[in-house]
Amino acid sequence: MSSGNLRVTGGPLWAGPGMFWPSGAVLASDGVVVYAGDAALAPPLPEASELDADGGLIMPGLINAHCHAAMVLFRGLADDLPLDAWLNQHIFPAEARWVDERMTEVCTRLAVAEMLLSGTTTVGDSYFCASGAARAYEQTGMRAVLAQGLIDFPAPGVPDPAQGLAVCREFVERWSGVSPLITPAIFAHSPYTCSPRTLGEAAALREDLGVRLYTHLAETASEVAQSAETHGASPVAWLDELGLLQRLDAAVHCVWLAEGEAELLAQRGVAVIACPGSNSKLGSGWADIPTMLADGCVVGLGTDGAASNNNLDLFGEIGLAARLAKLRTGDPASLPAEQAVDLALAGSAAALGLEEKVGRLEPGFACDLIVMDLSAPRLTPLYDAPSHLTYAASGNEVRHTVVDGQVLVKDRQLTCLDLDQAMASVRELAARVAGG
Ligand SMILES: [Zn+2]
Repeated sequence: MSSGNLRVTGGPLWAGPGMFWPSGAVLASDGVVVYAGDAALAPPLPEASELDADGGLIMPGLINAHCHAAMVLFRGLADDLPLDAWLNQHIFPAEARWVDERMTEVCTRLAVAEMLLSGTTTVGDSYFCASGAARAYEQTGMRAVLAQGLIDFPAPGVPDPAQGLAVCREFVERWSGVSPLITPAIFAHSPYTCSPRTLGEAAALREDLGVRLYTHLAETASEVAQSAETHGASPVAWLDELGLLQRLDAAVHCVWLAEGEAELLAQRGVAVIACPGSNSKLGSGWADIPTMLADGCVVGLGTDGAASNNNLDLFGEIGLAARLAKLRTGDPASLPAEQAVDLALAGSAAALGLEEKVGRLEPGFACDLIVMDLSAPRLTPLYDAPSHLTYAASGNEVRHTVVDGQVLVKDRQLTCLDLDQAMASVRELAARVAGG
């Protein structure tokens, strides 16, 4: 938990859609924003530590709503394959062999480094052996909604699938209340790897423990075809028939929705988390974000794991989401810049249930912010901040990163972990993976 006062000044402030000041200031006390606006009007803040934006753009930290952080170990291990071959022939076997709690701790630490350095302050992370990842978040001070994975076959840390629910319960109970930055949750892998019974039990556990439940849904055309063959319904319709749709908090992907299904998701209160980088690389297709937004869906953005992306830079996802929307509709006005950036702010925050805490720099919100280096050639000159953030920026222009009022990246250097050591540990594991 953070303590003390922080003042961030010295650059323009874009605090969220429609909130821009050419000379801005953000003041925070004990990790909570107490002022965000014109620097000239900022009230005094006693004994504050100072963070100088040095002409850079101050803005809310990005929120990666869906990731499997520890999968950085498998980055580039198997590429240029369709999802089923990639997953069944490469990823699931590698996970069975190499994933344990030490691996998730070590590899999540590298993922945290990558995310903080590229401007992500909150992550929705779902994986097996989630306690290892929780330790990495606890040690580094990154904000995470961290879900233990659930699947109907033997998985890392869960050799007997019948114990999957018990492992989820144990994880949630173990990590509830440990840190205000870590929110435990449950991730049922998908309706094609979890039976209706497993999904129903997961929903019951969600309600019993008061945590959020996520799943991958309608990712590929073959998943939809298989569902039609097996259940006589699309994955979305089938979950609705089972009464499970409204018991889900967010569905990841939703690339292949039938007519009216975006509206159904909105009615059932299911947020969508789109992962355009992963979906396009696997050739799965792309989510129809403009229709989802028009139909009232909450839509967040995620990178998915680094094995299918292959990086965790959320700026890439924002730019891709905006471009794919225009390609899909043939309309360049579709998903304009400010709306695209906000997918990774308010949209992702709501998908994670943190909409009152992160995604904006306003009094009462957490002091999770980043400073973008506006002296970078690719961000020069500046007319409109959301335009740059969508079409020109990358994570490489992030200079400072603050989570909960704590400066975790200063002048592009991590203050919360030893980057060389984090990379060396993952290289060591990777050498064993490569050795077979
Ligand atoms: Zn995923």
